[in-house]
Amino acid sequence: MAKAREIKNGNGNSMEINKPYYCTECKRNHTKGKIYKEHLEFANSEDINEELINGENTESELGNEDPEIEDYDDEAEIIEAFNELEEEINSDVENFSNNDNDINNCVEAVKNLPGVGEATLNKLIKAGFNSLESIAFTPPSIIQEESGLGEKTTTKLIKVSMEKLNIGFKSAVDIWEHRKNIARVTTGSQELDDLLGGGIETGSVIEFFGEFRTGKTQIMHQLCVNVQLPREKGGLEGNALYIDTEGTFRPERIIQMAEAQDLDHNKVLKNIVFGRAYNSDHQILLIKETANLIKEKNIKIIVVDSLIGHFRSEYIGRGTLATRQQTINSHLHDLLRLCDIYPELGVVVTNQVQSKPDVFYGNPLRAAGGNVVAHGSTIRVYLRKGKGEQRIAKVVDAPHLPEGEAVFSITGNGITD
Ligand code: ATP
Ligand code: MG
Repeated sequence: MAKAREIKNGNGNSMEINKPYYCTECKRNHTKGKIYKEHLEFANSEDINEELINGENTESELGNEDPEIEDYDDEAEIIEAFNELEEEINSDVENFSNNDNDINNCVEAVKNLPGVGEATLNKLIKAGFNSLESIAFTPPSIIQEESGLGEKTTTKLIKVSMEKLNIGFKSAVDIWEHRKNIARVTTGSQELDDLLGGGIETGSVIEFFGEFRTGKTQIMHQLCVNVQLPREKGGLEGNALYIDTEGTFRPERIIQMAEAQDLDHNKVLKNIVFGRAYNSDHQILLIKETANLIKEKNIKIIVVDSLIGHFRSEYIGRGTLATRQQTINSHLHDLLRLCDIYPELGVVVTNQVQSKPDVFYGNPLRAAGGNVVAHGSTIRVYLRKGKGEQRIAKVVDAPHLPEGEAVFSITGNGITD
């Protein structure tokens, strides 16, 4: 093994896979496997010397057999390759540390709360309460249950966090200022965007419900791609988190949608964090765990496809109805709370429909989940099939949008007009 691979960084820690490390021999940064040729020669010569001293013949081992080590023809090429590599590493390190700074600032704020020692801080962070907002907006019972802290401590922490964040009465002007700056993600269809007041707004839970094949899953896929677009193109320069409860997430569809917009599909796929929920408990757990991912992974949109499929199949019979509705309610509030804690985050969920046997006139289809889901989602959009690839979207409930309809299409390229 070449010695260069064993060189430790300045702190004396061992080299970690895929992490840049600083080589004390040649005073440069390296990534694992990509080793500056000059350095390699140095390392090999060191190995040869060592092996000669040890009297071992390792000619074949000394050959450049490692596929990870690149061959370069001349010195200029090596230097160019190395400079490129160094730039790549530096930009990675910069991005990483920017994000890191953000997270550290939030944690620092929690640490500075009165009465928060090392043990309390660890408990809070472990349970996902890593910012003042996450403490201030969560009911005390949930903080207690998830962190294991006592009632008194929790109540005190919430009170101080609220004071620090200045949560209380505000003027409507402040709210208007906030609403004016609300960010939106394009759906890909101008008509559908217009119907939604300019696209999918952040800070809200938006529900798309409709029969099978009405395009719910297609819209979810499209939003995961579009959220990554630059702001001037209708995106948020952020990443997506996809909770799939039905097993219908298709990366190939993401590739089609990304390529239709001339995006590098590998990058687009890499920026989607995917979680398959196998049952309702798992689904609830995944959403609770996202609290720690949102800042770290720059998540700007969370998709849950579908919201209550698991609950419908697991809670069967009238006797379970109350528990089911309570559990869905608390799950929806977990999602709503994420929007409060991270105002630049949008949550989009899909929902199935059920037929009401007692409706003789008009549409017998209703969104599943009853009043709990109806009251929980901020904006509700009903989807139905049109001619061929056309679909019709109707806003059925929104605090600020008129009830209206828009026609959009599902094509190979994704959602369009
Ligand atoms: P369900 O309730 O069963 O989950 P859904 O509303 O999520 O249904 P989608 O999967 O979003 O339905 O939509 C499926 C429809 O999308 C297909 O029937 C087809 O019309 C369209 N579709 C899917 N993939 C493509 C594609 N590659 N090119 C064109 N249209 C497509
Ligand atoms: Mg679907």
